[in-house]
Amino acid sequence: MANVLVVAETRGGELRSVALEVVTAARKAADASGGGEVHALVFGAPGTGAAVQDSLGRHGADLVVAVESAGLEHYDAESLAATTAERLRSGGYRAGFFAASAQGRDLAPRVAAALGVSLASDVTALELSGDALVVQHPVYVGKAIATLRLTGTPALASIRPGAVTAAEAARTPRLETAPPASDPASSRVRVREMLARGDAKLDLGEAPVIVAGGRGLRAAENFRLVEELAAAFGNAAVGATRAVTDDGWRPATDQIGQTGRMVNPNLYVAVGISGAIQHLAGMRTSGTIVAINRDKDAPIFKLADYGIVGDLFEIVPRLTEEIRKARSGG
Ligand SMILES: Cc1cc2nc3c(=O)[nH]c(=O)nc-3n(C[C@H](O)[C@H](O)[C@H](O)COP(=O)(O)OP(=O)(O)OC[C@H]3O[C@@H](n4cnc5c(N)ncnc54)[C@H](O)[C@@H]3O)c2cc1C
Repeated sequence: MANVLVVAETRGGELRSVALEVVTAARKAADASGGGEVHALVFGAPGTGAAVQDSLGRHGADLVVAVESAGLEHYDAESLAATTAERLRSGGYRAGFFAASAQGRDLAPRVAAALGVSLASDVTALELSGDALVVQHPVYVGKAIATLRLTGTPALASIRPGAVTAAEAARTPRLETAPPASDPASSRVRVREMLARGDAKLDLGEAPVIVAGGRGLRAAENFRLVEELAAAFGNAAVGATRAVTDDGWRPATDQIGQTGRMVNPNLYVAVGISGAIQHLAGMRTSGTIVAINRDKDAPIFKLADYGIVGDLFEIVPRLTEEIRKARSGG
């Protein structure tokens, strides 16, 4: 029986939803392997640990280790990597889990390199089995799933956002503070400011619903239809194919796919998207997939749970209207 360390990601002093997913995964893995504590490492400005302690406890953390400093208000790769590696090294942890978010993808390999241990990136399932960490990792743009056994301690994994559903596992966690292992003021790279896109309501990686548009929309201004459908759902983010972002109809940050964002929402609505393999690579693990396309042979229909064959310019406004009505109880 040994403990698991997770890095619980915060932004602007608040927990990101991926943090709760990673804590949930750690709790389940620890419980299924006969117990052990889940320790959540939190970085941020002074006060961050106390602010997130309850929420982390409600999802299964036994201990919150707060590393607080004015210099850690924003992500500091060097300081976070040194501190996480030091904690894993000195704490006798069996495993360390990260979110495979933009930050986690940067941090986890730095920690693995500092410790000289194995890291499985972007895993969709994991368990502690005997002396190994066994993970599932999609390969070949999601067409196959590799099962990897990581032996050695600590074994590290980053977990794909949305792959685990955050669940309650009530704990009353202890709060401990710890200094950073390296002073953020001496880091060679410093984040001075984080700019959020003014119109971005929900992050693609965290939205439970995504409405994505493709070249079938014909012009940038027609994305209004996609935005209205997303707004009707109330909890949806807008995504796009690379054809669309390359044409400048949407910002590159909206691109979903092999060379864009990997997303995993409960519901994915593909509007005027053909379903090229590179696009499917980023969204094929979505819960329910609905495709709207006028070409009945479009490859997206092979993956879709529900397919609507027809002209999106007729279908999307009607769908938006029906969803508005359904949500207002009409
Ligand atoms: C190395 C590499 C990496 C790539 N990475 C990515 C990536 O990360 N993400 C990505 O998305 N792509 C990526 N691509 C590009 C990818 O191969 C496709 O070109 C792209 O996904 C196609 O986008 P699309 O579906 O919007 O356009 P199209 O393939 O042109 O499809 C448009 C669809 O709209 C339908 N349509 C047209 N009019 C209507 C209408 N009125 N009503 C309903 N349906 C209509 C058509 O039937 C068609 O199926 C990559 C390509 C390469 C080579």
